[in-house]
Amino acid sequence: MHIHFTYAGGTIGMTDSPRGLQPGADLGGWLPRLIPGFTETVCTRPPTIPPSPQSPAPGTSSAPGATYSLTTLQPLLDSAETTPYTWQQVIDDVQRHAGCADAFVVLHGTDTMAYTASALSYALFDLEQPVVVTGSQLPPGATDSDAAANLTGAVYALTQGAPRGVHLFFGGRLLAGNRATKTSTWSLQGFESPNTPPLAVAGAPWHWSPRAPRTGVGWSAPLPYTAHDVPVIDMAPGLSSARLKAALTPAPVAVIVRAFGVGNLPAAADGPVNVLAQAVRDGVTVVIASQCPQGEVALGRYAAGAGAAQAGAVGSGDMTLEAAYAKLQFLASQGLRGAELGKWMGRDLAGELTAPATRH
Ligand code: ASP
Repeated sequence: MHIHFTYAGGTIGMTDSPRGLQPGADLGGWLPRLIPGFTETVCTRPPTIPPSPQSPAPGTSSAPGATYSLTTLQPLLDSAETTPYTWQQVIDDVQRHAGCADAFVVLHGTDTMAYTASALSYALFDLEQPVVVTGSQLPPGATDSDAAANLTGAVYALTQGAPRGVHLFFGGRLLAGNRATKTSTWSLQGFESPNTPPLAVAGAPWHWSPRAPRTGVGWSAPLPYTAHDVPVIDMAPGLSSARLKAALTPAPVAVIVRAFGVGNLPAAADGPVNVLAQAVRDGVTVVIASQCPQGEVALGRYAAGAGAAQAGAVGSGDMTLEAAYAKLQFLASQGLRGAELGKWMGRDLAGELTAPATRH
């Protein structure tokens, strides 16, 4: 088995500096100590088939002869600095090694890891090999750091035959990458998947969920990510129409409005719904999301939510904010705009959205 690592930055590769934590740990020196069963090599040979999760490889490593390669992206980033161009840098590196690696690990900062994992899931839908994105809350040198456990857990998930798709391993759980969201600044569990169960929970032995069929219509031969103007606006009681209008001037490509509950907004004729209706007429794709991490947007359930639907907004279903934002960037990068872009937001591209027929 050959695992290719793409190191993009984040606490997992940081060291202390007078200005605070910053990238600079010797990952190239640390990696071989963490995965002693793997030999560093140039990624040149054709991939082999990994074992299935029903017959896990013994120990914490891999079959004999396992190899790895590492790309360190430049510049290494605190993930607060990432943009859709950073996502594309990771995608390009994975695709460059797709002919020789059996599996991929992306090392990334936790702050925007769920955005990157979502972005990767759309662009790499056709990739045959699994990808696991991971990082840590504490740098590798810190006492009780979670860096080693997360990195070796990501590798172990792959050696056990994690299915194809983009996953996120953190705090002992393997989650679907486009279903995960960062929920804690300090907990070593850090991430939750509020609307779908974990794929696996680490332990002795690991517990794998029954494998569900892969969903999503995918997008063949996607164009690379480019950056599009997609503001995310949080509603709050009393937020004025003038403020909302100002935030939508000049008109963006799309907007995500994080409304209340199942997607409710004040219904007054001169309220936010009116501003959103005008935005739709101006060609903006208006997506209504919820401030509740768990559940789904149902715009018709309350009169307060029906107005947005009548105005031409679309609900984000049970997508995380990260999945919805990355999806808008992905679809806008494919050239979609307005109602067409809105229509595609309602389709399951890569498992990020529970299809209406299977919702309860
Ligand atoms: N600020 C860091 C980052 O996201 C946090 C982390 O990695 O945990 O790059």
